[in-house]
Formats: sequence, structure tokens, C-alpha cells
Amino acid sequence: MARPGSNDTRCPRCRAPILRQLVGTVAALTVTADLTPLTPSEQATVREPNRLIWCLRQASPYTPARLAWTGPGHPAGCPHPHVTEHRCTTEPTTLF
Ligand SMILES: [Zn+2]
Ligand SMILES: [Zn+2]
Repeated sequence: MARPGSNDTRCPRCRAPILRQLVGTVAALTVTADLTPLTPSEQATVREPNRLIWCLRQASPYTPARLAWTGPGHPAGCPHPHVTEHRCTTEPTTLF
């Protein structure tokens, strides 16, 4: 069964590669994440209460990436790329 819009899309506004995914088992949350990995200092810069860092896990290039929560127990030396929520830097267009 196809899963529409689950992976590898582009932001309709700024065309940045993003990943839209439903995360969480208790309180499911749709996350739109940037696919550009952040360095640790970039993560520190973007981190704020309402903006989460996600661990982007991909078992192989042929399987879809999955976003994992980075809680307090997240290993500091985690080898996976870390991404954050996508925020458009482009002004919203008034197409509607
Ligand atoms: Zn990680
Ligand atoms: Zn965008």
C-alpha cells in the first residue's frame, strides 16, 4: 500500500528538501523536518522550547528515513544526522 506524502517531499514554498512524518506512539505528531543535517553548534543555535531536534535514522539508502525523538537519553556521539523542524525563510505567497 502506498503511503502518500510520507517521505522525501519538497516544501511547496521554498523548495527545500523536507521530510513529513508522523512521529510518536502516544501523541502522534506530524513533523516537517529539514533534510539538511545540522552540526552540533547549529543544533545549539536553533534549539528553542518549541523547536525540536530529530534524529534522522536510515537503515539503508533504499529504506525510508525515520525521525526519532532526541530526548535526554539521546547519545551525544550518535552517528545519525540530526535535523530540525522546517521553517520557511521564504515569505508566504498569497496563492489562496
Ligand atoms: Zn541521533
Ligand atoms: Zn519552506
